Amino acid sequence: MTSFTLHGIPVSRGIAIGRAHILSPAALDVQHYLIAADQVETEVQRLQSAIATVHTELQTLWSELPKDAPAELGAFIDVHVLILSDPMLSEIPLDIIRTRHYNAEWALATQIEELSAQFDEVEDAYLRERKADIEQVGERVLKVLTGTANLLPRIDEVSEGTPAMIVVARDISPADMLQFRDRAFSGFITDLGGQNSHTAIVARSLDIPATVGVSNASTLVKQNDWLIIDGDAGVVVVAPSPLVLEQYREKHARQVRDRKKLGKIRKTPSVTRDGTPITLLANIEFPDDCPQALEGGAHGVGLFRSEFLFMNRPEGAPLPSEEEQFISYKQAVIAMKGRPVTIRTLDSGADKPIDFMEHSSLNPALGRRAIRFCLSEPQMFLTQLRAILRASAFGSIKLLIPMLAHASEIEQTLALIEQAKTQLRKEKIKFDEALPIGAMIEIPAAALALPLFIKRLNFLSIGTNDLIQYTLAIDRVDHEVAHLYNPLHPAILFLLSHTIGTAIKAGLPISVCGEMAGDIKMTRLLLGMGLREFSMHPAQLLAVKNEIINSDLGLIEPVTRKLLRTYEPRAINEVIEKLQQL
Ligand code: PEP
Ligand code: MG
Repeated sequence: MTSFTLHGIPVSRGIAIGRAHILSPAALDVQHYLIAADQVETEVQRLQSAIATVHTELQTLWSELPKDAPAELGAFIDVHVLILSDPMLSEIPLDIIRTRHYNAEWALATQIEELSAQFDEVEDAYLRERKADIEQVGERVLKVLTGTANLLPRIDEVSEGTPAMIVVARDISPADMLQFRDRAFSGFITDLGGQNSHTAIVARSLDIPATVGVSNASTLVKQNDWLIIDGDAGVVVVAPSPLVLEQYREKHARQVRDRKKLGKIRKTPSVTRDGTPITLLANIEFPDDCPQALEGGAHGVGLFRSEFLFMNRPEGAPLPSEEEQFISYKQAVIAMKGRPVTIRTLDSGADKPIDFMEHSSLNPALGRRAIRFCLSEPQMFLTQLRAILRASAFGSIKLLIPMLAHASEIEQTLALIEQAKTQLRKEKIKFDEALPIGAMIEIPAAALALPLFIKRLNFLSIGTNDLIQYTLAIDRVDHEVAHLYNPLHPAILFLLSHTIGTAIKAGLPISVCGEMAGDIKMTRLLLGMGLREFSMHPAQLLAVKNEIINSDLGLIEPVTRKLLRTYEPRAINEVIEKLQQL
């Protein structure tokens, strides 16, 4: 068979080599036939019993969640249970059997297709992605109905020398991913999904090489084909030649060796070769992520994305109460054992909607999101501020405000923080009176008007994910413009170095907490711009530390200065290459 290469969106790093294991290539492509009137109730029962089986499967998954499973997984399973119990899946297909006399598979597939079509009409990108959840639940039921739940072998069933499996699917649900934990598989590829899909989030937290959005992979790749996933590049090589296979095997072996070596620098101080200490912080979504942060040697939490506490809420409780939030923030502070924890206030909206919000805007990323939303819901915001302030009595907390651009927003925010403090003082509840307050610099207007921030706040943190999105006008979750999302665009380089340099001159602590901070190709560039605080996904901490301890600022700084006078992409790339070699 001739070799070919497929391209997708890289969502989780590393190399995986193995044989393709195709998961239900066309679960929705089921048999269609009409049933006789006297078979209707039998068919209805068949579907009800398949739904009940999937219910039990999900319940079992829940109860068997390993302690170290990423916290989001429980929430994902909850979402699937909710979908399964919803009349749109549990009742309407039964009506279709009764009224149209379709067989059970056909009735269910018809309803899933109908729901999918309705979701395609939805403007909101996040909601559109939830279509995948409905399809995943539907496919699970179909697999039970058709008896095609094709599972991978367990790790302990695989003898040495058996090639690893690479899962290829139209889409994979996070719940399925969890079942794969004790299965012999080394990576996955899906036709669907974006950077922001649930599957991508789980793959990153499980640290499994993965590429998503590989159009038609599940039809182009055949069962047992040899595959290579290059999770760093988002490339999939199908039926590689012996030479290519050998090259990737070497690369993979090198990666495994490098990872092992990295473990050895866990306790090594994070100091450059010429003696400058660099602070390494972790980005977390839930307090349960703190042990992983400590494992990676984090000096603290640089970004606690508090909005995750507001998502996947039980019905009837769209917002977490002050007490619930307080418990989570306190848990994080205690888990970090005295290290600082930077809690970002609710950054909802755009790709992270919460039930409490309305989704009216045509351009949600430019709409009433993050601090704009909080300021328009002062009671909700006060509840969060009180919870964070209360937790500050138990350790070192910093308060970080997302998406600020205007002096009036900063002032309103500070006034609400003051109000929360006054309330707590009156109630004789303890909190840290000197709680530092900082701003995310993630809107170009903020980066270009820093004195507004420097005058009013205690620290800054650059959110490169949004700063790039807004500067280059590239929707960060739209795979059709993903190729234009470029951290090395001269405009981005200018804004970064300007922001870092201005903060340093003003004596204000500054960090970067966007994905750039965890990308080792960017470490020296950021060091050269003067950055001394990096906040990233815990899995990246040791790799970035390794860059730092091998870097010499005296060599890096002049090369970075040269980069900032460079505009041509090729020349920029050459300087970046040069930085890596210093
Ligand atoms: C950012 O925008 O860079 C950032 C860190 O925040 P988020 O990715 O949560 O928007
Ligand atoms: Mg952001």
